[in-house]
Amino acid sequence: MTKKVLIIGSGLGGLTTALRLARRGYKVEMVEKARQPGGRLNQIKKDGFTFDMGPTFFSMTYEFDDFVKDAGISMPFTFKELDTLYVVSFRGSDKKYFIYKDLDLLAKEFEKIEPDFKRKMGNFLRLGGKFFHDVEYKILKRNYDNLFDYLLAMATVPPKYLPKMWRSVWDELDQHFDSREVKEIFSLVAFFLGATPYDTPAIYTLLSYTELVHDGYHNVEGGMYKIVEGLVNEMKKKDISIHLNTEIVGFTEEKGRLKSFTDQNGKEWTADVYVVNSDAAFFRGKVFKRPAFSEEKLDNMRWTLAPFTLYLGIDRKIDEVPLHNYYLGDNFEEYSKKVFKNSITFEKPYYYVNVVSRSNPSSAPEGMEALFVLCPVPDLRFKPDWSDRDKIADSIITDLSHRMKIDLKKHIVSQTIMTPVEWGEAFNLYKGSGLGLGHDLNQIGSFRPKNFDEKFPNVFYAGASTLPGTGLPMAVISSQLVVERIMKKYGLLYA
Ligand SMILES: Cc1cc2nc3c(=O)[nH]c(=O)nc-3n(C[C@H](O)[C@H](O)[C@H](O)COP(=O)(O)OP(=O)(O)OC[C@H]3O[C@@H](n4cnc5c(N)ncnc54)[C@H](O)[C@@H]3O)c2cc1C
Repeated sequence: MTKKVLIIGSGLGGLTTALRLARRGYKVEMVEKARQPGGRLNQIKKDGFTFDMGPTFFSMTYEFDDFVKDAGISMPFTFKELDTLYVVSFRGSDKKYFIYKDLDLLAKEFEKIEPDFKRKMGNFLRLGGKFFHDVEYKILKRNYDNLFDYLLAMATVPPKYLPKMWRSVWDELDQHFDSREVKEIFSLVAFFLGATPYDTPAIYTLLSYTELVHDGYHNVEGGMYKIVEGLVNEMKKKDISIHLNTEIVGFTEEKGRLKSFTDQNGKEWTADVYVVNSDAAFFRGKVFKRPAFSEEKLDNMRWTLAPFTLYLGIDRKIDEVPLHNYYLGDNFEEYSKKVFKNSITFEKPYYYVNVVSRSNPSSAPEGMEALFVLCPVPDLRFKPDWSDRDKIADSIITDLSHRMKIDLKKHIVSQTIMTPVEWGEAFNLYKGSGLGLGHDLNQIGSFRPKNFDEKFPNVFYAGASTLPGTGLPMAVISSQLVVERIMKKYGLLYA
C-alpha cells in the first residue's frame, strides 16, 4: 500500500528527497513557508533584473548526476564549468589574482610572491586529494545510528590524518606556503563554510582539492534558480504538490508517533512519514520544543556567519570586472577573528561580488548589469540591530566603486538589501546564520543534528543542517542519506 510523506520545506534538500521518494513509490506532498520554492537557492526579480538570492556556484556536480539517476529523471538543467574559478584582490593594490584549475596558469599568478609555487601547490593538493578520497565514502556519505557507529567509522581513517583535526586551515596553509597573499587566498575555503581559517579544522583544506583538481566550480545556464525550476517541473510530472505560504508551527502526537503538523492557520497536515527540511536544530527547538534545542542551548552552539547581501542593477556594462570576485582588505587575521562577534566596523568590509549578468545575460536589460554582493557579518546573537543597513550598504558600494574605478552610485538603478534579519525571517535560519550550524568537530558526523528524530519514529530530517553538512552538493547527499533511512524502515513501495 502507498505511504504518504509530507516534506516540510522546499529547499534543495527537500526537493531532492521528494523526487527520490516518489521514484520509490511514495505519495509525496510538500509545505513551504515562503511564497516560492527553493529555500536559500532562491531568486529575486525586480526592476527588470533577475538575481539568484544566495548560491552562485558549486562543486561536486557528480552528486547531481547520481541524484537524477536515482530519481529516474533526466538532468533538468545544464551545468557550466567556470574556467576562472574566481579572482581575488587586496585593498590598496590593483593586482588581481586569477584562480585557475590549470596548475601552470595558476603558478604564473603567484610565481613572483611564492617561489616554487607549482611544486608546493601540487604537494598541498595531492595531500588534500588523498584525504578526500580516503574519507568520502567512509565518513562523509554515510549514516550513523549512534556515536559508537561514528567512532567505528572514524577508526578506519588512517591515523596520519589525525593532526588535521586539531590544526586549523590557516596552520595547514602555513606549513606549505610562505606568502601572506597565497595563504589568505587559499584559506578562503573556510569562509565558504561560513567560518574563518583560524577556527576551521585543517580537514577542510580538502575543499581546495575539490575546487582546483577534482570537479572545479560550476554554475547553471540561465541562472542557479533553473535548478529549482527544473526540479519543480519534474515534481509536477509525478504529481507532487507544494503548498506555499504554509509554515508549520505545531504538531500533534498519538501513541508515540507524530500524528500531524499544524500550520500558522491551524490547518492540520497528516501523513505516514514526515521529512523536515527546515533547520534540523532550530525546528527541534522551535516546533518540537525540545529542551536540548532551547534558545539558550542553541545560542551556545557554533553558528556560521550571517549574510549581508546586496542585489544591484547597474545602467552600464562593466566588462572589466570578472565574474566571481573576492575583495579582501589589508588586516585579514584581525578582521577574520573579530567579524563573528561584531567587534569590527564595516567601514572597510571584506566581500564577494558576482557579476550575475556576465554568466546569465538574461538577468539584466540590454546594456546593463546585475550584481550580487555578499558580505559575511555577525549573526543576530552578536548584532541584533540592523538599522544601520543603509550605512553598511553605502560603505560596501563606496569601497567597490573605488576598487572597480567606477562611481557605482551614479549607475545604480535597482537596489535590494537583505540583512541577517530578512534572511532569518525568510527561511527560518537561526538568528540569521547563513549556513546553519558550523562544521566544528563537535558539530559534524554523529554530533550534528541527526537525520532521524529522537522521539518520533516516523519523523526524519533532510538538508544542509543535518548529515553531512552545508552547501548544495551536501544537501543533495543529505537526501540520499535520509532516503536510505526511510527505505530501511519502510522499504520500496513499487506496485
Ligand atoms: C548567501 C548565501 C550564499 C550561498 N552560496 C552558496 C554557494 O555559492 N554554493 C553552495 O554550494 N552553497 C551556498 N550556500 C549554501 C546553500 O544555499 C545551502 O547549503 C542550501 O541551499 C541549503 O538547502 P537546504 O535544503 O538544506 O535548506 P534551505 O534552502 O534553507 O531550505 C529549507 C526550506 O524550509 C522552509 N521552512 C523552514 N521552516 C519551515 C516551517 N516551519 N514550515 C514550512 N517551511 C519551512 C524554508 O522556508 C526553506 O525554503 C549559500 C547560502 C547563503 C545563505
